[in-house]
Amino acid sequence: MDFAFDARTEELRERLSAFMEEYVYPAEPVAAEQRARLASPWDTPAVFGELKAEARRQGLWNLFFPGGEYGAGLTNLQYAPLAEITGRSPHLAPMATNCAAPDTGNMELLAQFASEEQKKQWLEPLLAGEIRSAFAMTEPEVASSDATNVETRIERSAQGDEYVVTGRKWYISGAMNPDCKVFIVMGKTDPDGADPRRQQSMILVPRDTPGVEVRRAMRVYGYEDHDHGGHAEVVFDGARVPAANLIAEEGSGFAIAQARLGPGRIHHCMRLIGMAERAIELMCRRAIGRTAFGKELAAQGVVQNWIADARVTVEQLRLLVLKTAWLMDTVGNRGAHTEIQAIKIATPRAVVRILDDAVQLHGAGGVSQDFPLAELWAAARTLRLADGPDEVHQRSLAHRELKRYR
Ligand SMILES: Cc1cc2nc3c(=O)[nH]c(=O)nc-3n(C[C@H](O)[C@H](O)[C@H](O)COP(=O)(O)OP(=O)(O)OC[C@H]3O[C@@H](n4cnc5c(N)ncnc54)[C@H](O)[C@@H]3O)c2cc1C
Repeated sequence: MDFAFDARTEELRERLSAFMEEYVYPAEPVAAEQRARLASPWDTPAVFGELKAEARRQGLWNLFFPGGEYGAGLTNLQYAPLAEITGRSPHLAPMATNCAAPDTGNMELLAQFASEEQKKQWLEPLLAGEIRSAFAMTEPEVASSDATNVETRIERSAQGDEYVVTGRKWYISGAMNPDCKVFIVMGKTDPDGADPRRQQSMILVPRDTPGVEVRRAMRVYGYEDHDHGGHAEVVFDGARVPAANLIAEEGSGFAIAQARLGPGRIHHCMRLIGMAERAIELMCRRAIGRTAFGKELAAQGVVQNWIADARVTVEQLRLLVLKTAWLMDTVGNRGAHTEIQAIKIATPRAVVRILDDAVQLHGAGGVSQDFPLAELWAAARTLRLADGPDEVHQRSLAHRELKRYR
């Protein structure tokens, strides 16, 4: 077994790391300063555009897209260590390189299932980083980890040339950003259909459609995640769109949602490992630079345990993520199902633990705005919910494991 990255990956890792040092980390305080002076906190700071232009100029663009048709032509295995690097600055680097959720999942969905006209209208500007997009599935009124519960209605108009979308969604990532121009909405076209997995469809709803209201920003442990475009409550009140906006055919929404989430989940895990690496770096720097009760913090056994345990955990997680990426490349997303679920269960909770230790080591500074740890902790913690709660993945993984013995 060869654990080395190939030459292309190594070359991109070097270039991406240099881009992070030269442009991304210095832009973190600049973005915060610029945002404080914007007319609306949801507008985009100028430095975002500069980062995107530079990343594109350097060919660090659309790295996530497997195959060469739309993206950089990398495999999942090649992309994994690059996503890890962008995870060190999860609010800026993925956006700068056009590799940010939810656009990545939406682009993959459109590439796989959209018509040629839909691709032209929405996929092309997304690939060029000219617009952003959102994916609207979760609803406040129903347990949305079970997609068969979704209550939003997508009804064909009497004339048959339009669909009318009615429902309420929340935690729709990216939707507060005015650059988010389109929603991929999951709803039911056949709520009484015999097969509960064929009742749903997906439809493209432009933001400026009458009847669409981006109502409010939902918070994440008090953070509004401005850089990410927030997480909005969105109401669709009889929003009418052309029938041609339906993605694939009626009844395919459930299957499309399943297909969309595989790559998205591994991307989150790759970036989480980068977040953990940043936490380890911050822990080490802090432990060496500070003294309590006559000793460097680094000399305390408990601090050494935190650092050692974090290193061991990260090495384990990385191997599992790389194996999963390799399986996705070799046997496909479906064949890698168990491993995708395993990393989605293992990574967020382990990284939350590492970030929690890093917060502890930083004392009050750890929960402050002067270090990225508190915000990283909140982001990592939400990934135990987003893209499917831990328990749903555990249930499904256990079912498959048990099946082997029945
Ligand atoms: C920061 C953030 C961003 C998000 N972004 C988006 C987005 O862009 N688009 C979008 O559509 N959604 C988004 N979500 C929503 C997310 O996908 C849902 O929260 C998630 O699917 C769970 O649905 P729910 O909140 O309705 O929880 P519920 O379905 O009500 O589940 C609540 C809890 O019940 C337990 N549970 C549920 N099912 C089982 C089971 N089978 N076995 C055991 N326990 C179970 C779990 O502990 C679960 O956490 C986001 C969420 C967050 C926090």
